[in-house]
Amino acid sequence: MKGNDFIIVVHGGAGAMKKGLLTPEQEQSIHQGLFEAVEQGKKVLAQQGCAIDAAEHAVIELENNPWFNAGRGSVFDYEGKHQLDAAIMDGQDLNAGAVSGVQFREHPISLAKAVLEKSEHVMLASEGAEQFADDINMPKVNNGFFSTELRKNQWQRFIETGEDSLEPAEKDFKFGTVGAVAIDLNGNLAAATSTGGITGKRYSRVGDSPIIGCGTYANNKSCAVSATGHGEFFIRHTVAYNIAARMQFGGMTLNQAVNAVVMDELVQAGGEGGVIAISNTGELELQFNSEGMYRGWHRQGEETVTAIYKSDEQRHKSD
Ligand code: ASP
Repeated sequence: MKGNDFIIVVHGGAGAMKKGLLTPEQEQSIHQGLFEAVEQGKKVLAQQGCAIDAAEHAVIELENNPWFNAGRGSVFDYEGKHQLDAAIMDGQDLNAGAVSGVQFREHPISLAKAVLEKSEHVMLASEGAEQFADDINMPKVNNGFFSTELRKNQWQRFIETGEDSLEPAEKDFKFGTVGAVAIDLNGNLAAATSTGGITGKRYSRVGDSPIIGCGTYANNKSCAVSATGHGEFFIRHTVAYNIAARMQFGGMTLNQAVNAVVMDELVQAGGEGGVIAISNTGELELQFNSEGMYRGWHRQGEETVTAIYKSDEQRHKSD
């Protein structure tokens, strides 16, 4: 790493994205969406903003984009509504905020950040999270605000085929969680993750995304990680903290730690998905054991890159 370069990395979910299933237009709009998210984070970092604000802004952009399974465009739960989860963590002081089962706030990531900043707690759930959002005057949206045709069709197919919630009919678009990790000019790390969870989820199921140490983790002593994939496995293997701990206590590089967890431990367990991560020395990893992962990154002074499959990197000129 050259001095204190800033870096922003985003993901828009991992899964069985076989080439040919998406039209070239869809692929292009995904690349564009990822690029715009990177730009949002980059803008904050270039103005000497902090990593946590950059991660939040990048995730807000992805929550706004209906293609991704977060914010508008989130999957439907079993009853046909949306319940959103999000978490954000500051690697400087290990402060963290998380929410689960959010139904009426446009940007769950901003609610998670408000939990970090304005409450003495780390994680608020369902009605309590909504009540907290009311108390801090965060505007409300209808739950239908999050619905799109694509997600409704996925849900209807899921209900018709009666497939188990972990194996939804539309496997090809199973994951779509979004996340961002950043390192700022002061060398501080942050991670943020936001999701609608999985299609047809029931019983207030909570995935890994809002659980600190599982889908989201940041510590200036090691790295920042945001995950996407089959949440139950990511919880059992405490994926994000697992990577950080291998670095901090096991002396691994970020590359070694990510590969050990994503390509070895998770593969052996059958847990599909991936992570984006930045180390405290500016190493960068985007690793997945699925066919694809929507992803994008920018290192200060270099081109922004976006990709969907194993090798389809698109380079974007940006100043
Ligand atoms: N990890 C998320 C969950 O299990 C899903 C995803 O990454 O798409 O809720």
